[in-house]
Formats: sequence, C-alpha cells, structure tokens
Amino acid sequence: MVDLFLRLKENAVLLWYEKTTYCLLCGNVSEEPVCLICQQAYFFPNLPRCGSCGKILAETKTRCRNCETGKGPEGLDKVTCLGYYKGAWKELVQQIKYKGQPYLITSLAEVIIPWVIRWLPPPDAVVPVPMHPDRLAQRGFNQAEVLASIISRQLAIPYQNLLDRIKDTIPQTTLGRRQRLRNLRDAFSVKPGYSDLREIVWLVDDVVTTGSTLEECAGVLKKNGVKKVYAFCLGAGKEE
Ligand SMILES: [Zn+2]
Ligand SMILES: [Zn+2]
Repeated sequence: MVDLFLRLKENAVLLWYEKTTYCLLCGNVSEEPVCLICQQAYFFPNLPRCGSCGKILAETKTRCRNCETGKGPEGLDKVTCLGYYKGAWKELVQQIKYKGQPYLITSLAEVIIPWVIRWLPPPDAVVPVPMHPDRLAQRGFNQAEVLASIISRQLAIPYQNLLDRIKDTIPQTTLGRRQRLRNLRDAFSVKPGYSDLREIVWLVDDVVTTGSTLEECAGVLKKNGVKKVYAFCLGAGKEE
C-alpha cells in the first residue's frame, strides 16, 4: 500500500513538476534555459557592449569603431544587447519571430532579467518598438511587445505601448545607414492619448543592426518629453 502511494506521488511529480530542463540553444541537459557553455559562446558575459549601438566589443572599450567616428545612432543614452546574433542564438530569435513561438521568450526571462538589471539604469516605463499594423496582422504578434511585457511584469515596471508605426518601411537589411534613416523618417509617432510621458524609459526590440530604428524611436520619445532612453535587444553584432 505504501509502495502504491509512493508510486502515485512519483507519477504526480513527473506529471506536474518537470525537473529536467534542456538548453534552448544546444539541447543538452541544463538547469538554466541557456547552458553555461552556450552563454559563453553567444552572450559573452565578460565583454562590453557599445553604449551607442549595442554591438558586442572585443576589447574594453565603450564605443565601437563605427560609433566612435560618428556613424552610429544618436539620441540613445545607452544600448545593451543580450547575445551575439549568429548561429543558434540567431536561429532561436528567428524561431520566436517567424515561427510564432513567442512563449520561448518566457523561458528566456531567467537570463534576460538579470542582464537588463545589470546593464541599464532603472526606468519609469518599458516601451516596445512597434510593428506596422499590416505586419502585425500577418504575424499575429509583435515579439518586441512580448519581450517588453515580460520584462515589465517580472520587474513590476509599468508597460507603455505608446509608439505607433505609421509608415510601413521596406526591410532595413537591404539599405545603407543614410537610406535607413530616410526610410524610417516619420515612421513612428506617439499614440494619441499619451501626453504625459515618463522621464526614463527602456526601449525594447528583438534585434539591433545599425540602431537606426532605435534611434528614430528615441527621437520621437525625446521630442515628447522623455529625458533618457535606454535600449535593450536580444541580439546584436560583434566587432571583430
Ligand atoms: Zn547549450
Ligand atoms: Zn556602436
């Protein structure tokens, strides 16, 4: 009889309390959503990020070469990214985005939250980079909104989805910096109804490439009274 109860309990534990977890990147058994080996390979916890564009830097610098020579984004008070947008990390971010698996961001909260707290000063609100309504209709969700709302919920910081994407821009990846900025001009605005913006915000997006999108959003926020704009992204490039 005791045996039976023990077996029932074991089964209940197996059913309801999943103990074994796997690394989302390599699939090996891991206590954390991303194992320590993958964290070293993609997150480079000991390398600095370019404060202007989020790029991972190889040396102890605070700006990448591009931003040092004035070719980077302006108007952002600090940018940090979690991982190197390559290999398994890039695949995972794309899986979240294009294969409709936003719940994977929830699994990553354990690594995202300590990172934002470590690298960005505390904000008054978390703001996602908006998606154009046509694209939102195609994809069904905005990964930046999912990411921002998870950060907001876990840290109990107000979530403000206060930007609108009013222009459906062509994909930025095909364009140079100047063209990107032209492409994005007047692409964003503050949603009607938001008049009193908070002083310090975290702007959240999935990936940063040149930083033009973040730059445009930061410009709109600052024009509307925000004093400091810090940005967080899941992925960025790495300076070699
Ligand atoms: Zn791994
Ligand atoms: Zn930079």
